[in-house]
Amino acid sequence: MIEFYAKEIFQRSGIPSPNERLVHSVSEGLSVIPEIGIPCVLKAQVLVGSRGKFGGVRFVEKEEELLTSLKEIFSLKIKENPVEMVLISEKVRIKKELFLSITIDRNLSQPVLLASPYGGMDIEEIARERPKSMLKEPIDPFLGLLPYQSRRVAFFLLPNEPNLNPPLSSIIMALSKVFFENDCLLTEINPLVVSEEGNLLALDAKIILDDNARFRHPDWDKYEYNLSPLESIAKAEGLSYIKLSGEIGTIVNGAGLAMATLDLLNTYGARSANFLDIGGSSSPEKTKKALEIITSSEVKVVLINIFGGITRCDDVAKGLIDFLKEKPLSIPFVVRLVGTNEEKARSLLSSLPSNFKIHFAQTMKEAVKKASELARSL
Ligand code: GDP
Ligand code: MN
Repeated sequence: MIEFYAKEIFQRSGIPSPNERLVHSVSEGLSVIPEIGIPCVLKAQVLVGSRGKFGGVRFVEKEEELLTSLKEIFSLKIKENPVEMVLISEKVRIKKELFLSITIDRNLSQPVLLASPYGGMDIEEIARERPKSMLKEPIDPFLGLLPYQSRRVAFFLLPNEPNLNPPLSSIIMALSKVFFENDCLLTEINPLVVSEEGNLLALDAKIILDDNARFRHPDWDKYEYNLSPLESIAKAEGLSYIKLSGEIGTIVNGAGLAMATLDLLNTYGARSANFLDIGGSSSPEKTKKALEIITSSEVKVVLINIFGGITRCDDVAKGLIDFLKEKPLSIPFVVRLVGTNEEKARSLLSSLPSNFKIHFAQTMKEAVKKASELARSL
């Protein structure tokens, strides 16, 4: 979820952040400035870590710079993500930047609180440059973070600021509350700052929700603003789709098989144009939709890799045929359909006119190899 929403959740739990407004355009940006004042900070609301390093955090020191900076930030693409929302924030005078994060430690099988007095850098940098500065406090998943732990961490972070220890330990407790109440995989404040005025403020906020808990949080839908149009269509159809930058469109059933297919493509020197898992129960419509989605951007070859269990191969074949009737593409299709009803699928596809280039493969390796060769030769 974007920083702005994460800060909303933080604030509701008692974690303070600077005065800020979310805007969707340059003109909206200009209109809210009187409420924030100058100097201010413009922050691209994109789901990319360390946007600061890609120009996604800009300081506006003078009124004259505002318009240009707003225009510039709205025209940015940060790691392919267009900037559609910008957070305008009052500029805080920073005395100290701290790092605070709660995440799941899979080796310990429990959440851990990570804290470092060297905030502002990302966690990999801290681990590299200041390995000894990271305190790791395991959290009992049934009891939650205990007050004595938050006091210990607060003292570790600010040993020379006794006045700030109680409010800091409250923030740490609040961060843990956010983590558990919202079924998070991660809650992070980097940096949590001590301002020149002596206030503690979350300047940045990151929350990753655990998708497995979605069913008990109907309110989460509003955080999903930034699916691309195709990703939204895919989601509505029950397909897991992520656009990638390769040349081979892939349709696979099961996330594991999809990942393996992508890896194998890489091994053969090719790259997939997408991740697309049609899921367990297939239907011709679902396959047809999947094909529409992956061929809506340019692909050289389409690779269909289905291991039919609950998914029936003939359903997938029917979907492909329906798709080709509507959109008779001349690109080659490499089809590996094994498992339930595979003979049926093959005979359906064999009846297609020969101007459609369908290549059959029996094993995954064969299919991937063929698709890679075709992509290379085109
Ligand atoms: P990130 O690059 O995505 O982590 O974006 P952040 O929101 O964490 O901002 C990056 C860095 O910009 C912070 O670590 C601060 O050093 C700096 N920064 C952000 N907001 C302010 C601010 O209000 N005042 C000052 N002085 N620096 C800021
Ligand atoms: Mn940050």
